Formats: sequence, C-alpha cells, structure tokens
Amino acid sequence: MGLTDIKTRIAAAESAAGRQPGAVKLIAVSKVQPAERVEAVLQSGQTIFGENYVQEAAGKWPEWRQRFPGIELHMIGPLQTNKLKLALDLFDAIHTLDRPSLAQKLARHVQKTGACPQLFVQVNTGEEPQKAGILPTDADAFIADCQALDLTITGLMCIPPEDQDPAPHFRSLAGIAARNGLEGLSMGMSSDFEAAIAAGATHIRVGSAIFGARDYG
Ligand SMILES: *Cc1c(COP(=O)(O)O)cnc(C)c1O
Repeated sequence: MGLTDIKTRIAAAESAAGRQPGAVKLIAVSKVQPAERVEAVLQSGQTIFGENYVQEAAGKWPEWRQRFPGIELHMIGPLQTNKLKLALDLFDAIHTLDRPSLAQKLARHVQKTGACPQLFVQVNTGEEPQKAGILPTDADAFIADCQALDLTITGLMCIPPEDQDPAPHFRSLAGIAARNGLEGLSMGMSSDFEAAIAAGATHIRVGSAIFGARDYG
C-alpha cells in the first residue's frame, strides 16, 4: 500500500464512476501513527489529514503546520463539548457533528468568533445503538436545526456497520444529502473507499492503507 498506490486506486475509482479526476479528497488518517510515518507522508506532499483525538492532535499538529504549509486538518472522532474550543483552534473541518448539544455549543462559538469550520453531520446509517450519529429518520430535522442556528453544513458523514456490505449505507447517506441539498459526502475508509467513491463520496478517510497498521499497544 502507501500513498502512491492509494492515489492510483482513487483515480481509477473516479474514472470508473464517471467522476471528474480530483473529485474526491483524500483525508490521510494519522491517528496513533508514529511521527516518522506521518512525516514521510507530509514530505511527499499530502496536505489533508484526519485525527480522532483532540489531545493527540494538539500535541502533534501545531509544529507540523509550521513546517509544512497548507495543511488542512479534519476532526473525524467523537467530539466532547468540553474539548470544542481546543478543537476549533486546531481543526479546519469537523466530521462528527452528531447531536443537538454540540450544534448549540458550536453555534455560540461561531457567533463569537465569526469563524466556522467545515461541518459534516454524522449519520448512524446502520442504526447501531453503540455508535454515535443522528438516526436517518432524524437527519432532515437535525440538518434544518443546524442551519437555523446559522451553521453552514458542508455535508454528511457515516461509518457503516463493520459486518455489513457498506454500499447500501453509502447510497443511503448520499440520498439523505441529496434531498437536503448538501454536496459533501465523507464516507469510505481503507477497506471500502472504492465503493464509497462509486456512491459519490467527496471525502474519503484512509488510515492504515496509507500508513500501515495502527499499534495501540
Ligand atoms: C480510524 C478511522 C478511519 C481510518 O480507518 P482505516 O481503516 O485505517 O482507513 C476513518 N474514519 C474514521 C471515523 C476513523 O475513526
């Protein structure tokens, strides 16, 4: 694997789906990866990265941002409201807007500072009880509530159930986005990004296929 292979596969998937070259943004998910692996990917010119943990990102990215211009950092993990301020200082995009209390707090910060990150509403397409996200039946109302709070919603994000074919979940997310007039679709990971691109993904989140397996030990 590695970055070059992934880019080749993205281009092939874009072409197979009849999509424009470059239509899909690759978010390189660097959570838990050793610094030298991330630096190698930075050196090769990748600028969009994803992290899951605010504290971990805060320890790594301010320095890399200084050394490598044009970094865009995406928060793809669950976001606690008490970490929101720090997250807004660090991230250009939040993919895990998953509940009303977070939307309300976000709206207050955006009002105060005037700066709004790109926002993706996380939808629990598999309706899994242990998983974060808005239920599909509640998505239209939640999106409208966010917009009423003056939050600009870029798109939707999902993590399909691990034990199921992801394609129906990707199509379901695309359907919710389309009927709400949203263009962004954050879907697809190392094991299924080609299926996500076929279903219209605009942002794929790929970690281990670029960096190698994560060692949580
Ligand atoms: C870790 C993570 C990824 C990347 O997963 P890989 O299987 O390593 O590509 C993508 N999205 C989310 C939300 C993640 O937590």
